[in-house]
Amino acid sequence: MNGEGLASWIRHAADLVSADAERLTRLDAAIGDGDHGHNLDRGFRAAVGALPGDAPPGKVLIAAGRAIVSKTGGASGPLYGTALRRAGKALGDARDVDAAGLGTALKAALDGVQDLGKAVEGDKTMVDALAPAVAAYEAALADGSGLAGCVRAAADAAAKGADDTVPMQARKGRASYLGPRSVGHMDPGASSTALVLRALADVAGE
Ligand code: ADP
Ligand code: MG
Ligand code: MG
Repeated sequence: MNGEGLASWIRHAADLVSADAERLTRLDAAIGDGDHGHNLDRGFRAAVGALPGDAPPGKVLIAAGRAIVSKTGGASGPLYGTALRRAGKALGDARDVDAAGLGTALKAALDGVQDLGKAVEGDKTMVDALAPAVAAYEAALADGSGLAGCVRAAADAAAKGADDTVPMQARKGRASYLGPRSVGHMDPGASSTALVLRALADVAGE
């Protein structure tokens, strides 16, 4: 995948986030402050506006991540921004990213989110979508799948991971203030992470 492919991902993710902003905001209204869809819509729009023309994949992701950090409010802005910037740094200056390289970038994104937010799996956060996505990606890669297959496996695992947050009690972020009342609702950040990875699978499968 080249820089234009990664830019297509950011544009497609922005479209999916925008189309689903109301739903994400409703999820956040149940266990947070009801702004997640709005925050992310604003951030991804800014990322689309900041996409450089004819740049290598790493530079595309770093530009998108910077824009998201600067334009997105809430906890999710710095977390998403860090994820994209770390992924971009992992890709370096290469003009093309292969399946192994994208796996390394995805893992770097997860590490960035965890360094910043200190959440582990089971805390009912975006980590509960991203961590299984990385594991599924690495398993698919080890099985010999190409980039599109690995990304599809990651997106499927992220969707399942988001579903699995419903019975969890939140231990990080705003939802943790609710204690046991956070149980029974899907985590908005895990749901948006699944959406953004679905966007990557759509673009990689074209
Ligand atoms: P805010 O809670 O500041 O309003 P958002 O509503 O945009 O921010 O984002 C909330 C989401 O951020 C949560 O659903 C969760 O997935 C994610 N989140 C919050 N805190 C953390 C954390 N420490 N680590 C990982 N993800 C987190
Ligand atoms: Mg919120
Ligand atoms: Mg908020």
